[in-house]
Amino acid sequence: MRRLYALFLLASSILSPLKIYCQSDEDMLKSIFNETLTNGRSYEMLDYLSNEIGGRLSGSPEAAAAVEWSRQEMMSLGFDTVFLQEVMVPHWVRGEKEVVKVINSDRLGTFDLTACALGNSVGTGDLGVVAKIIEVDGIESLRKLGRKNVEGKIVFFNRKMDPTHISTFAAYGGAVDQRVFGASEAADLGALAVVVRSMASNNDDIPHTGTLIYKEGVKKIPALAISTNSANLLSKSLKAEPDLELYIESHCQMLPDVLSYNVIGEIRGSSKQGEYIIVGGHLDSWDLGDGAHDDGAGCVQSIEALRVLQSIGYKPKHSIRAVMFMNEENGLRGGLKYAELAKKNQEKHLAAIESDRGGFTPKGFTLVGSEAAKAQLLNWRPLFETYGIYDFGKPGGGADIGPLEEQGTVLIGFLPDSQRYFNLHHTTADTFDTIDKRELELGAASMAALVYLIDKYGIDGKN
Ligand SMILES: [Zn+2]
Repeated sequence: MRRLYALFLLASSILSPLKIYCQSDEDMLKSIFNETLTNGRSYEMLDYLSNEIGGRLSGSPEAAAAVEWSRQEMMSLGFDTVFLQEVMVPHWVRGEKEVVKVINSDRLGTFDLTACALGNSVGTGDLGVVAKIIEVDGIESLRKLGRKNVEGKIVFFNRKMDPTHISTFAAYGGAVDQRVFGASEAADLGALAVVVRSMASNNDDIPHTGTLIYKEGVKKIPALAISTNSANLLSKSLKAEPDLELYIESHCQMLPDVLSYNVIGEIRGSSKQGEYIIVGGHLDSWDLGDGAHDDGAGCVQSIEALRVLQSIGYKPKHSIRAVMFMNEENGLRGGLKYAELAKKNQEKHLAAIESDRGGFTPKGFTLVGSEAAKAQLLNWRPLFETYGIYDFGKPGGGADIGPLEEQGTVLIGFLPDSQRYFNLHHTTADTFDTIDKRELELGAASMAALVYLIDKYGIDGKN
């Protein structure tokens, strides 16, 4: 009789998986959301990380404080184990406030533009750089101009984020190459420095920093971002007076690498201890704001996801980890180290979820994985629709979890409503006061819910 019943269960789970889990999973998700929205800790944690510790660029004392804080926070929550992974990180410092000034213009006079150095950039030193400007709308048009038009000048990259993309991340992706690679492309043609239009969806006076990568063997030249308003003004001024000059001054520098850490909290699995589901964000942030959205939100949501599952008494089969990755912003060393150690220690990572698109209202989850994994994720969508979360399965993972892909890990990106994200991203405006408690908590709950479902059913045909 029992065998017959087991056979019946097996048959119905093949024929109609939804019917088998529907009721109890709905209840479980309700418990997860209720616990997060009534006893949630993510907002309080983010308040501390943002306001007491603040901006925490890799290698800084603030980054070290964030490591210690998150370790203690997860220990106080009573996770089974909390540990650190050593990782050497770059240590870039901004130094004194940057200056970008339009000068030597008889008709327009002298005026300041709002600017900040790009991360990893060399500085100009005390003497600054003075030169004429050549405006381009991206790397391709720079190359077409050739050395004769670029040598001895400051290159002004002025491509906008395309507002017709509904995904602001697609707009960012379409413009960010000039920020990342523009300096070396310009230096290759003899430019003295570059200024780059901020990667922003809006027009204002706030410059957006972000990482640049120098090409090996090419002279390192200073690179700064100017605000979108300043970029518009500069472009207009150049049309009126093409021979005007720019004075730029920055004092940033790259110091020797520093020892830092990924911070990991773990709830041990009951029957599949050696298999992992991880949920994470990056603990480092840029130095200008307090990194509340990028990516303090992702860190506290990850810790909260584990806290909630523990608090409602859920005992996972797989081991579940909250991972605070170090150095996503200007090196990705933490993400690379995590994957390296997972491989070395033969930890099988079933799935990795990353929240790094801001602490806004959840919309869904993106995925990098097999068709089977995508089908499984889509199969769970009805459970989330009650919570207004419906956008499942578009391609995308996360920078820090990316290196796990080659180990067969299913990568999942938390997808909030990011329409306002690029007004704040990498700026002085990315601060805790722009965080909405309820939106942050809904995100944390949705991540916890997905961890629960992956733990219970597996993903990609693996369980
Ligand atoms: Zn980020």
